[in-house]
Amino acid sequence: MSNLERFIRYAKIDTQADETTGTTPSTEKQKNLGKLLVEELLELGLKDAHMDEWGNVYGHLPGKGTKIGLNAHMDTALEVTDKDVRPSLIKNYSGGTIQLANGLKMSPNQFPILKEHVGHDLVVTDGNTLLGADDKAGIAIIMSALQYYKDNPKVEHNTICVCFTVDEEIGEGPLHFNYKKMDAKYAYTIDGAHINLIENENFTAVGVDIDIEGVSIHPGEGKDRLINALLIGNEIISMLPQNDTPYYSSGKQGFWHLTSFEGGAEKASLHMIIRDFKEAGVKARVSNIKNIIKRTREKYPKAKILTSFKDQYENMKPYVDKKPIAIKRAKEALKKNGIEPEMGYIRGGTDGATFSKNGLPTPNLGTGSYNHHGRYEFLDVQEFEQMIKVVIDLVRK
Ligand SMILES: [Zn+2]
Repeated sequence: MSNLERFIRYAKIDTQADETTGTTPSTEKQKNLGKLLVEELLELGLKDAHMDEWGNVYGHLPGKGTKIGLNAHMDTALEVTDKDVRPSLIKNYSGGTIQLANGLKMSPNQFPILKEHVGHDLVVTDGNTLLGADDKAGIAIIMSALQYYKDNPKVEHNTICVCFTVDEEIGEGPLHFNYKKMDAKYAYTIDGAHINLIENENFTAVGVDIDIEGVSIHPGEGKDRLINALLIGNEIISMLPQNDTPYYSSGKQGFWHLTSFEGGAEKASLHMIIRDFKEAGVKARVSNIKNIIKRTREKYPKAKILTSFKDQYENMKPYVDKKPIAIKRAKEALKKNGIEPEMGYIRGGTDGATFSKNGLPTPNLGTGSYNHHGRYEFLDVQEFEQMIKVVIDLVRK
């Protein structure tokens, strides 16, 4: 079986997550891939390979030296289904518009990233599903690296600690992650796009709920009495800095983002998220919101305004910085394979952020797959093959 066939076999197994079920795994079908991976890990010589009750798969390949972790996630994103994935291979991509099997078109004008992959072989969808290279390409890269060590028993490697997690796409990968079982000194998620990037930074994230209760009476008799919850919500929103939203934010800038504002004259609720690479940036936005709420309460003493601020995830950088060997090793493995490494950052969250905070420094590496979470997702086969070599060198003794 070729490395690419391995990827396609995983991609064909439906493992879409579901944020509404409240269970772990969020969908039982994720275990179908888990079971297959356990069988394969056992064949590859990871004698302790197993799936736990939560659907997470663990296995170790003992070696010499450090215990290095490799992680990828088994679930796929919610935006588009991964049922009946029918990948097709475009050999030696010419740079033109790609026609997907269902008639959809992928043009380099619409997706300028395609221009970076001219001359390479691309795996695309049939236009009806996502590809699931996020993150089955990551799984296939790790499995193919293990295959190399099985086929080349004389090549020495460090102890390789493998874990495939469920429910990354709903932010619950770390929920039942067993750090003792993983037993690694540091780890890598193989879950990115560009293969030259080593991502060691992500947003620090806070969720904000504001619940407003007004005073509801017949509007005809509302003079000096009716307090409209929706209008209070509107005032709160208008007091927030209007140029600090995702529309105006790029690079290392943060933002506040209103994700919902609903209700009626009597009760209304707002939900917001706050994101910034710096904790100070998050704190400043939180304290601004608290001040606005304080002033609004003073203005409308008869209204009830309740707030809650929830820490969602943290920037991994300070935690990863404590283990410089993790970045050093990744840089060396990339360079050895002719790739000039660049440090990158994620304008979002990652399971690795929570792993890092909980004592397992876990930067992120690329898979050579792009346009994640949609029908236009594709895998660059040459980059994927290169990453297998990178991961082999990453754990080499
Ligand atoms: Zn992913």
